[in-house]
Amino acid sequence: MQPLRTIIIGLDGATFDLIDPWARAGFLPNLARLMEQGVRAPLAAWPNMNSAVAWSSIITGYNPGQHGIFDFGDRLAWQHQEWHPTTAADRRRRAFWQLLSDAGQQVGVINVPISYPANPLRGFMLAGMDAPSVNSPGFAHPPDLMSELRLQGIDYVLDVPGLGRLCHKDPGRVPEPVTAMMDSRSRTILHLMDSRPWDALMAVLVAPDRMQHFYWPEGREAPDDGPDWAPIRGVYQQVDRFLSNVLARVGQNTVVLVVSDHGFGPRRLASNCLNPMLARVGLLRFRADVRPRRPLGFLLRWGRRRLPLPFQYLLAKRLPALYVRAVSQSKNPDVDWSRTQVFASLRGRSIWINLKGRQAYGIVPPEEYEALRQRVSELLLTLTDPATGRRVVRAVHRREDVFRGPYLDRAADLLVEWDEVIAGDGLAYPDGGQPVYARPQSRRVGEAGWTANHRSEGVFIAWGPGVIRPGVTLTESAHAARPVTHYDISPTVLHLQGLPVPADMDGRVLAEIFTEEYHRGHAVRIGQSGATADRTVGLEADEARLVEERLRSLGYLE
Ligand SMILES: [Zn+2]
Repeated sequence: MQPLRTIIIGLDGATFDLIDPWARAGFLPNLARLMEQGVRAPLAAWPNMNSAVAWSSIITGYNPGQHGIFDFGDRLAWQHQEWHPTTAADRRRRAFWQLLSDAGQQVGVINVPISYPANPLRGFMLAGMDAPSVNSPGFAHPPDLMSELRLQGIDYVLDVPGLGRLCHKDPGRVPEPVTAMMDSRSRTILHLMDSRPWDALMAVLVAPDRMQHFYWPEGREAPDDGPDWAPIRGVYQQVDRFLSNVLARVGQNTVVLVVSDHGFGPRRLASNCLNPMLARVGLLRFRADVRPRRPLGFLLRWGRRRLPLPFQYLLAKRLPALYVRAVSQSKNPDVDWSRTQVFASLRGRSIWINLKGRQAYGIVPPEEYEALRQRVSELLLTLTDPATGRRVVRAVHRREDVFRGPYLDRAADLLVEWDEVIAGDGLAYPDGGQPVYARPQSRRVGEAGWTANHRSEGVFIAWGPGVIRPGVTLTESAHAARPVTHYDISPTVLHLQGLPVPADMDGRVLAEIFTEEYHRGHAVRIGQSGATADRTVGLEADEARLVEERLRSLGYLE
């Protein structure tokens, strides 16, 4: 048997809730073929449900306590200080492609989130959305790759900022910039596959995530034939056509993995009501006077959102203190930190204790931390949906029960597992018989006009003649003891590529996806513990602002 090649296609935000009905209806013949001839399984994305932490876990095989990336930015700082966007320079574990390259294999990496600066590896690499721009030094390896693409007539773009502005003007029509991004990304990947040797290749397509955030028909769980599903279906069909071009290029000795970082579903606002609920029960205080009486605060928030970037840079250079204040104002303008014990992240998935000595304006003494954590857990578990009276939180976990490693202290104090289907648009708390309610102030709170958000069930599909079992569905119930997780992708790829798996990786080789024949000839080898990542240079202040602005226009920041 020839040595295997592995190709990993990352589909940011892809969900079986859309793939299955559209594959059955004949819209996605190539995804249908991969599932019919291979293995499919739900990917358990909780607790790593944002793309930064999810992809970092996928490419390293380690949990965030080991690789150190929990979000798109430094979350401990986000209350008061200038926020620092995450890049690969912050990742403390090495990606699988570095291990393969060190072992003498040729690798290709295209557009994996949190991969800037590109690694100088054996092969080629284009960094992801954490890069300031496609012209930044460190975006491409080898450095002349971008000029080569331009010679091929490919206008490679990093993302589609400002999609929120285009949104809903013409339902039924796929926004042209998303189509253009998918097209240039597909052409780039196919060109690099054709023009260079590779043993393993990973490329991430972010278009499904972007389109779903903004164009998911509001409140709908399942797609129908209506025109308002056309933009999202159009993107999946574009992905499917790209897969047909990939499959036409790979031989019998190639394994194809299709992986999403998380699932997707209509946005429910219950989780956005967590801070108002914490305020109702006295654990968080809003400043009542902030809007009418603080014109400077209003001006700073307005400027941060509306002023053109170059003008903001100029102001930031001249008036650095005012700039930091503007950043802080635009993050949490109306929280009174001096009277706040507990607060939730924007999307309500994580809870922080305002701890003395850790948070800039912390008030909770360390000796009260455990009792407060316990009290908040119990409170969260009794929250219900005001309309149905059903519990909306499935479980609350202490960080040390979910993550382990030297960076555990960067995690939030509590992690909330929402019931994504039962949670509605508000919260009720049975406060001693007289229920307390928290409701969203408007449907357009934060998130740049998103109609849908991440869910905990992602997608895993594996295909490879003779290697991967044909036509197998690993269902959630049959598979509950050992679901497929982000951490399992790297060890599985290393094993397929003939390398030992580092002994301390959090993931496992997904042995259940292989044929008996492949199993017999390929015992899993366990190697030394993995090395930590080499330090690389992070972003300059101006570069960090470019990345921050992109994240904000995509809805990932307030
Ligand atoms: Zn997203």
